[in-house]
Amino acid sequence: MADRQNRVGSKFGGGGVSSTQQSERERKERLRELALETIDLAKDPYLMRNHLGTYECKLCLTLHTNEANYLSHTQGKKHQAGLARRAAMEAKLARQKGETDVMMPLKSALQSTRSASKVKIGRPGYEVSKSRDPQSNERCLTFELHYPELDDPKSRQPRHRFMSAYEQRVETPPDRNYQYLLVACDPYETVAFKIPNEPINRGEGKFVTNWDTTGKVFTLTLHFVEGQSASQEQ
Ligand SMILES: [Zn+2]
Repeated sequence: MADRQNRVGSKFGGGGVSSTQQSERERKERLRELALETIDLAKDPYLMRNHLGTYECKLCLTLHTNEANYLSHTQGKKHQAGLARRAAMEAKLARQKGETDVMMPLKSALQSTRSASKVKIGRPGYEVSKSRDPQSNERCLTFELHYPELDDPKSRQPRHRFMSAYEQRVETPPDRNYQYLLVACDPYETVAFKIPNEPINRGEGKFVTNWDTTGKVFTLTLHFVEGQSASQEQ
């Protein structure tokens, strides 16, 4: 993987286009299209187009002849190791600044190639509130999502799932201090909330969802296990 960008550069001297080069080009084009569906290059902070019309990876300081070549580079060991190093560094800085407790509001809908073609009717309205459990002192988050335009709320219950920072492709580099809570309900867009990457209490009454089919409001309440954040990080 590491020397792929060098091999591509040597092709410039070549003469005619052979059939193998042709099919290789088609393969790369397919690869590019596939990758573009899941990775938004415009949001990649490390991709830079230089004045020669070629591309540079600002993380690894490598040169790339085209986007496809850059994309295959991002899947390679060097780039991935660079991302991991960067994430670890940023996590350390965030801890020093005491930012692990920050709850970011809605980011953007997480990209999914399967649902991309369906017609979406926009994002649900939402409210997030923070509190503490009066008994256990555990930190608690409540998410309330509003789906007013939903036609058939009885058969279209919103679904939720958690996603790790490394699983998502929207924010780069991934920040392991956070995880994402996704809530999906077709035909609304799936929304993601960025929350601290800390253990969630699955005990009785600690993780509660409710779907109000009349008001078309989905509520999810979660508690973070107390005493696992600060002690683990130090
Ligand atoms: Zn790179």
